[in-house]
Amino acid sequence: MKRWLMEILICPAKECRSELNLEVYKSHEIELEDNQVEEIDEALLTCPKCTRWYPVIEGIACMLPDNLRMTGKQHIEEVKFLERWKERIDSPILENGTPFGLS
Ligand SMILES: [Zn+2]
Repeated sequence: MKRWLMEILICPAKECRSELNLEVYKSHEIELEDNQVEEIDEALLTCPKCTRWYPVIEGIACMLPDNLRMTGKQHIEEVKFLERWKERIDSPILENGTPFGLS
């Protein structure tokens, strides 16, 4: 995802809609219409209001409702994301994140 997308991204949780915080773990520069823009590959989005976290995996912000994140392939991918970046993710998220952590 492009960094400028942060300007319009909000927490999708019902009755939240807060602005999100971004922590970038991996990104690269690309040239777009003669401008250098930052393409974010891997990052953590966190919501200061409802405390949910959302991953950016392979350039895609995964902002699904909780129930779709708790099972199946999506859940496996998001657990792998937490494991991949656990040295850099705050321990409250790893231990007891919303909607889930690693424990
Ligand atoms: Zn929220």
